[in-house]
Amino acid sequence: MPAKILDGNALSKQLRTQIATNSAILTAKGTKPGLAVVLVGNNPASQIYVRNKIKACHDANIHSELISLSENATQEELLSVIHGLNDNSSIHGILVQLPLPSQIDSHAVLESIDPEKDVDGFHVANAGALMTGKPLFIPCTPYGCMKMLESIDYPIRGARAVIVGASNIVGKPMAMLLLQAGATVTICNSKTKDLSAHTREADILVVATGKPKMILAQMVKPGAVVIDVGINRLPDGKLCGDVDYDEVKYVADWISPVPGGVGPMTITMLLQNTLEAAQHFHQKK
Ligand code: NDP
Repeated sequence: MPAKILDGNALSKQLRTQIATNSAILTAKGTKPGLAVVLVGNNPASQIYVRNKIKACHDANIHSELISLSENATQEELLSVIHGLNDNSSIHGILVQLPLPSQIDSHAVLESIDPEKDVDGFHVANAGALMTGKPLFIPCTPYGCMKMLESIDYPIRGARAVIVGASNIVGKPMAMLLLQAGATVTICNSKTKDLSAHTREADILVVATGKPKMILAQMVKPGAVVIDVGINRLPDGKLCGDVDYDEVKYVADWISPVPGGVGPMTITMLLQNTLEAAQHFHQKK
Protein backbone atom coordinates (compact mmCIF):
# COMPACT_ATOMS: atom_id res chain seq x y z
CA MET A 1 0.00 0.00 0.00
CA PRO A 2 1.57 3.31 -0.98
CA ALA A 3 1.72 6.10 1.59
CA LYS A 4 -1.08 8.57 2.05
CA ILE A 5 -0.35 11.96 0.53
CA LEU A 6 0.24 15.11 2.56
CA ASP A 7 -1.50 17.24 -0.03
CA GLY A 8 -0.19 20.80 0.31
CA ASN A 9 -2.45 22.08 -2.46
CA ALA A 10 -5.65 20.83 -0.84
CA LEU A 11 -4.68 21.98 2.66
CA SER A 12 -3.58 25.37 1.29
CA LYS A 13 -6.86 25.84 -0.49
CA GLN A 14 -8.74 25.27 2.76
CA LEU A 15 -6.49 27.58 4.81
CA ARG A 16 -6.38 30.31 2.14
CA THR A 17 -10.18 30.48 2.06
CA GLN A 18 -10.12 31.16 5.80
CA ILE A 19 -7.33 33.75 5.41
CA ALA A 20 -9.24 35.52 2.62
CA THR A 21 -12.33 35.73 4.82
CA ASN A 22 -10.36 37.07 7.77
CA SER A 23 -8.57 39.60 5.52
CA ALA A 24 -11.91 40.85 4.23
CA ILE A 25 -13.18 41.21 7.82
CA LEU A 26 -10.09 43.21 8.83
CA THR A 27 -10.38 45.36 5.70
CA ALA A 28 -13.99 46.15 6.59
CA LYS A 29 -12.73 47.31 10.00
CA GLY A 30 -10.32 49.72 8.29
CA THR A 31 -7.05 47.79 7.88
CA LYS A 32 -6.40 45.99 4.60
CA PRO A 33 -3.47 43.60 5.14
CA GLY A 34 -0.51 44.62 2.96
CA LEU A 35 2.63 42.74 1.94
CA ALA A 36 5.68 44.21 0.20
CA VAL A 37 7.86 41.80 -1.75
CA VAL A 38 11.33 43.04 -2.60
CA LEU A 39 13.14 41.34 -5.47
CA VAL A 40 16.74 42.17 -6.35
CA GLY A 41 18.12 40.97 -9.67
CA ASN A 42 16.92 38.52 -12.33
CA ASN A 43 17.15 35.07 -10.71
CA PRO A 44 14.53 33.12 -12.73
CA ALA A 45 13.46 30.90 -9.80
CA SER A 46 13.07 33.97 -7.56
CA GLN A 47 10.95 35.66 -10.22
CA ILE A 48 8.59 32.66 -10.29
CA TYR A 49 8.37 32.50 -6.47
CA VAL A 50 7.65 36.24 -6.27
CA ARG A 51 4.97 36.04 -8.96
CA ASN A 52 3.26 33.19 -7.09
CA LYS A 53 3.33 35.14 -3.82
CA ILE A 54 1.82 38.26 -5.41
CA LYS A 55 -0.95 36.22 -7.03
CA ALA A 56 -1.68 34.41 -3.76
CA CYS A 57 -2.01 37.79 -2.00
CA HIS A 58 -4.50 38.96 -4.58
CA ASP A 59 -6.62 35.83 -4.15
CA ALA A 60 -6.53 36.21 -0.34
CA ASN A 61 -7.73 39.84 -0.30
CA ILE A 62 -4.24 41.01 0.71
CA HIS A 63 -2.80 44.15 -0.83
CA SER A 64 0.67 43.51 -2.29
CA GLU A 65 3.46 45.64 -3.72
CA LEU A 66 6.38 44.32 -5.72
CA ILE A 67 9.55 46.38 -5.54
CA SER A 68 12.11 45.25 -8.11
CA LEU A 69 15.71 46.43 -7.96
CA SER A 70 18.36 45.74 -10.57
CA GLU A 71 21.04 43.05 -10.24
CA ASN A 72 23.56 45.86 -9.56
CA ALA A 73 21.56 47.51 -6.79
CA THR A 74 23.71 48.61 -3.86
CA GLN A 75 23.18 47.71 -0.24
CA GLU A 76 22.35 51.37 0.50
CA GLU A 77 19.60 51.38 -2.14
CA LEU A 78 18.07 48.22 -0.74
CA LEU A 79 18.28 49.43 2.86
CA SER A 80 16.64 52.70 1.86
CA VAL A 81 13.74 50.76 0.27
CA ILE A 82 13.31 48.71 3.45
CA HIS A 83 13.41 51.77 5.71
CA GLY A 84 10.65 53.30 3.56
CA LEU A 85 8.55 50.13 3.89
CA ASN A 86 9.16 50.01 7.66
CA ASP A 87 7.56 53.49 7.83
CA ASN A 88 4.71 52.73 5.40
CA SER A 89 1.48 52.17 7.34
CA SER A 90 -0.27 50.36 4.46
CA ILE A 91 2.43 47.65 4.53
CA HIS A 92 2.29 45.15 7.41
CA GLY A 93 4.64 42.51 6.09
CA ILE A 94 7.99 42.82 4.27
CA LEU A 95 9.59 39.95 2.42
CA VAL A 96 13.00 40.21 0.79
CA GLN A 97 13.31 37.37 -1.71
CA LEU A 98 16.51 35.36 -1.18
CA PRO A 99 19.14 34.79 -2.44
CA LEU A 100 20.46 38.33 -2.84
CA PRO A 101 23.28 39.26 -5.24
CA SER A 102 26.78 38.86 -3.79
CA GLN A 103 27.47 42.60 -3.29
CA ILE A 104 24.69 42.68 -0.69
CA ASP A 105 25.04 41.53 2.91
CA SER A 106 21.87 39.45 3.39
CA HIS A 107 22.22 39.39 7.16
CA ALA A 108 22.33 43.20 7.42
CA VAL A 109 19.32 43.44 5.10
CA LEU A 110 17.21 40.98 7.10
CA GLU A 111 18.15 42.78 10.33
CA SER A 112 16.96 46.10 8.85
CA ILE A 113 13.35 44.86 8.60
CA ASP A 114 11.10 45.99 11.44
CA PRO A 115 10.62 42.74 13.48
CA GLU A 116 6.87 43.50 13.61
CA LYS A 117 6.80 43.34 9.79
CA ASP A 118 9.20 40.38 9.52
CA VAL A 119 6.63 37.94 8.12
CA ASP A 120 9.38 35.56 7.00
CA GLY A 121 10.50 35.28 10.63
CA PHE A 122 14.20 35.59 9.72
CA HIS A 123 15.11 38.60 11.91
CA VAL A 124 17.27 37.60 14.89
CA ALA A 125 14.62 38.99 17.23
CA ASN A 126 12.08 36.54 15.79
CA ALA A 127 14.59 33.68 15.54
CA GLY A 128 15.50 34.24 19.21
CA ALA A 129 11.85 34.47 20.20
CA LEU A 130 11.25 31.16 18.45
CA MET A 131 14.01 29.56 20.56
CA THR A 132 12.30 30.70 23.74
CA GLY A 133 8.89 29.55 22.55
CA LYS A 134 7.21 32.92 21.98
CA PRO A 135 7.75 33.84 18.33
CA LEU A 136 5.99 36.84 16.76
CA PHE A 137 6.26 35.14 13.37
CA ILE A 138 7.16 31.53 12.63
CA PRO A 139 9.27 31.05 9.45
CA CYS A 140 6.79 30.10 6.72
CA THR A 141 8.23 26.76 5.55
CA PRO A 142 8.52 25.08 8.97
CA TYR A 143 5.18 26.63 9.93
CA GLY A 144 3.66 24.97 6.85
CA CYS A 145 5.21 21.62 7.76
CA MET A 146 3.71 21.85 11.25
CA LYS A 147 0.30 22.62 9.74
CA MET A 148 0.63 19.48 7.60
CA LEU A 149 1.28 17.36 10.70
CA GLU A 150 -1.62 19.06 12.48
CA SER A 151 -3.90 18.32 9.50
CA ILE A 152 -3.44 14.58 10.04
CA ASP A 153 -3.60 14.86 13.84
CA TYR A 154 -0.13 13.37 14.08
CA PRO A 155 0.81 12.62 17.71
CA ILE A 156 4.05 14.64 17.82
CA ARG A 157 4.47 14.34 21.61
CA GLY A 158 7.03 11.63 22.30
CA ALA A 159 7.71 10.96 18.59
CA ARG A 160 11.26 10.68 17.25
CA ALA A 161 11.83 13.47 14.70
CA VAL A 162 14.85 13.73 12.44
CA ILE A 163 15.55 16.84 10.38
CA VAL A 164 18.04 16.47 7.55
CA GLY A 165 19.36 19.97 6.82
CA ALA A 166 20.19 22.66 9.35
CA SER A 167 19.65 25.99 7.59
CA ASN A 168 18.42 29.05 9.48
CA ILE A 169 15.29 29.25 7.33
CA VAL A 170 14.16 25.61 7.39
CA GLY A 171 16.08 23.00 9.41
CA LYS A 172 16.80 24.90 12.64
CA PRO A 173 13.35 26.50 13.12
CA MET A 174 11.71 23.18 12.14
CA ALA A 175 13.68 21.45 14.90
CA MET A 176 12.62 24.09 17.43
CA LEU A 177 8.93 23.75 16.53
CA LEU A 178 9.00 19.96 16.78
CA LEU A 179 10.93 20.12 20.06
CA GLN A 180 8.39 22.55 21.50
CA ALA A 181 5.60 20.22 20.35
CA GLY A 182 7.15 17.44 22.44
CA ALA A 183 9.17 15.45 19.88
CA THR A 184 12.67 14.15 20.53
CA VAL A 185 14.64 15.84 17.78
CA THR A 186 17.86 15.11 15.92
CA ILE A 187 19.23 17.61 13.39
CA CYS A 188 21.59 16.26 10.71
CA ASN A 189 23.86 18.19 8.38
CA SER A 190 26.34 17.41 5.62
CA LYS A 191 28.95 16.26 8.16
CA THR A 192 26.64 13.76 9.89
CA LYS A 193 28.19 10.29 10.06
CA ASP A 194 26.01 7.36 9.03
CA LEU A 195 22.99 9.47 8.10
CA SER A 196 20.82 6.38 7.55
CA ALA A 197 21.27 5.29 11.16
CA HIS A 198 19.55 8.54 12.17
CA THR A 199 16.89 8.72 9.46
CA ARG A 200 15.83 5.09 10.06
CA GLU A 201 14.94 6.05 13.65
CA ALA A 202 12.56 8.81 12.57
CA ASP A 203 8.81 8.67 13.11
CA ILE A 204 8.80 12.13 11.54
CA LEU A 205 11.44 12.74 8.86
CA VAL A 206 11.81 16.26 7.47
CA VAL A 207 14.30 16.71 4.65
CA ALA A 208 15.63 20.09 3.48
CA THR A 209 19.03 19.71 1.85
CA GLY A 210 18.65 20.71 -1.80
CA LYS A 211 20.10 17.31 -2.83
CA PRO A 212 17.71 15.66 -5.31
CA LYS A 213 16.28 12.28 -4.21
CA MET A 214 19.02 11.73 -1.59
CA ILE A 215 16.67 9.99 0.87
CA LEU A 216 16.25 6.42 -0.36
CA ALA A 217 13.65 3.86 0.72
CA GLN A 218 16.14 1.93 2.89
CA MET A 219 16.85 5.13 4.88
CA VAL A 220 13.24 5.42 6.05
CA LYS A 221 11.53 3.71 8.99
CA PRO A 222 8.42 1.79 7.90
CA GLY A 223 5.33 3.79 8.85
CA ALA A 224 7.14 7.14 9.08
CA VAL A 225 5.75 10.53 8.08
CA VAL A 226 8.09 11.99 5.47
CA ILE A 227 8.00 15.71 4.73
CA ASP A 228 10.07 16.71 1.72
CA VAL A 229 10.98 20.41 1.68
CA GLY A 230 13.49 20.22 -1.18
CA ILE A 231 12.76 21.77 -4.56
CA ASN A 232 15.21 20.70 -7.25
CA ARG A 233 15.04 21.10 -11.00
CA LEU A 234 16.23 18.03 -12.92
CA PRO A 235 18.03 18.31 -16.28
CA ASP A 236 14.74 17.42 -18.05
CA GLY A 237 13.12 20.49 -16.46
CA LYS A 238 10.94 18.52 -14.03
CA LEU A 239 10.87 19.34 -10.32
CA CYS A 240 11.74 16.82 -7.64
CA GLY A 241 12.31 16.83 -3.91
CA ASP A 242 15.15 15.61 -1.71
CA VAL A 243 13.31 12.30 -1.20
CA ASP A 244 13.13 9.46 -3.71
CA TYR A 245 9.35 9.73 -3.73
CA ASP A 246 8.59 6.79 -6.05
CA GLU A 247 10.38 4.34 -3.72
CA VAL A 248 9.88 5.94 -0.31
CA LYS A 249 6.10 6.03 -0.77
CA TYR A 250 6.09 2.23 -0.35
CA VAL A 251 7.79 2.48 3.07
CA ALA A 252 6.26 5.59 4.65
CA ASP A 253 2.71 5.96 5.96
CA TRP A 254 2.50 9.60 4.89
CA ILE A 255 4.58 11.52 2.37
CA SER A 256 4.53 15.03 0.91
CA PRO A 257 4.98 15.24 -2.87
CA VAL A 258 7.10 17.73 -4.83
CA PRO A 259 5.55 19.73 -6.34
CA GLY A 260 2.27 20.10 -4.45
CA GLY A 261 3.52 19.54 -0.90
CA VAL A 262 5.46 22.02 1.22
CA GLY A 263 5.80 24.63 -1.57
CA PRO A 264 2.18 25.85 -1.54
CA MET A 265 2.10 25.60 2.27
CA THR A 266 5.03 28.03 2.51
CA ILE A 267 3.08 30.65 0.57
CA THR A 268 -0.05 29.96 2.62
CA MET A 269 1.79 30.60 5.87
CA LEU A 270 3.24 33.81 4.41
CA LEU A 271 -0.34 34.97 3.87
CA GLN A 272 -1.23 33.89 7.41
CA ASN A 273 1.74 35.79 8.88
CA THR A 274 0.83 38.90 6.86
CA LEU A 275 -2.74 38.71 8.13
CA GLU A 276 -1.46 38.35 11.72
CA ALA A 277 0.92 41.32 11.25
CA ALA A 278 -2.02 43.43 10.04
CA GLN A 279 -4.16 42.26 12.97
CA HIS A 280 -1.39 43.35 15.43
CA PHE A 281 -1.16 46.69 13.62
CA HIS A 282 -4.93 47.16 13.78
CA GLN A 283 -5.07 46.40 17.50
CA LYS A 284 -2.42 49.05 18.18
CA LYS A 285 -4.19 51.76 16.09
P1 NDP B 1 20.70 25.34 2.56
O1 NDP B 1 21.62 25.08 1.41
O2 NDP B 1 20.75 26.66 3.24
O3 NDP B 1 20.93 24.22 3.67
C1 NDP B 1 21.02 22.88 3.31
C2 NDP B 1 21.27 22.06 4.55
O4 NDP B 1 21.33 20.71 4.17
C3 NDP B 1 22.58 22.38 5.25
O5 NDP B 1 22.42 22.37 6.65
C4 NDP B 1 23.51 21.24 4.80
O6 NDP B 1 24.50 20.88 5.74
C5 NDP B 1 22.51 20.12 4.68
N1 NDP B 1 22.97 19.09 3.76
C6 NDP B 1 23.42 19.24 2.50
N2 NDP B 1 23.76 18.04 1.99
C7 NDP B 1 23.53 17.12 2.94
C8 NDP B 1 23.71 15.73 3.02
N3 NDP B 1 24.20 15.02 2.00
N4 NDP B 1 23.38 15.11 4.17
C9 NDP B 1 22.87 15.80 5.21
N5 NDP B 1 22.69 17.15 5.20
C10 NDP B 1 23.03 17.78 4.08
O7 NDP B 1 19.25 25.02 2.01
P2 NDP B 1 17.78 25.52 2.45
O8 NDP B 1 17.47 25.05 3.82
O9 NDP B 1 17.63 26.94 2.13
O10 NDP B 1 16.90 24.70 1.39
C11 NDP B 1 16.94 23.29 1.34
C12 NDP B 1 16.04 22.82 0.21
O11 NDP B 1 14.71 23.24 0.49
C13 NDP B 1 16.35 23.42 -1.17
O12 NDP B 1 16.02 22.45 -2.15
C14 NDP B 1 15.39 24.58 -1.28
O13 NDP B 1 15.08 24.90 -2.63
C15 NDP B 1 14.20 24.03 -0.58
N6 NDP B 1 13.31 25.02 -0.01
C16 NDP B 1 11.99 24.83 -0.25
C17 NDP B 1 11.07 25.69 0.27
C18 NDP B 1 9.62 25.42 0.04
O14 NDP B 1 8.82 26.31 0.17
N7 NDP B 1 9.25 24.17 -0.30
C19 NDP B 1 11.46 26.85 1.07
C20 NDP B 1 12.88 26.91 1.35
C21 NDP B 1 13.76 26.02 0.79
P3 NDP B 1 25.66 21.88 6.26
O15 NDP B 1 24.99 22.77 7.27
O16 NDP B 1 26.66 20.97 6.82
O17 NDP B 1 26.12 22.63 5.03
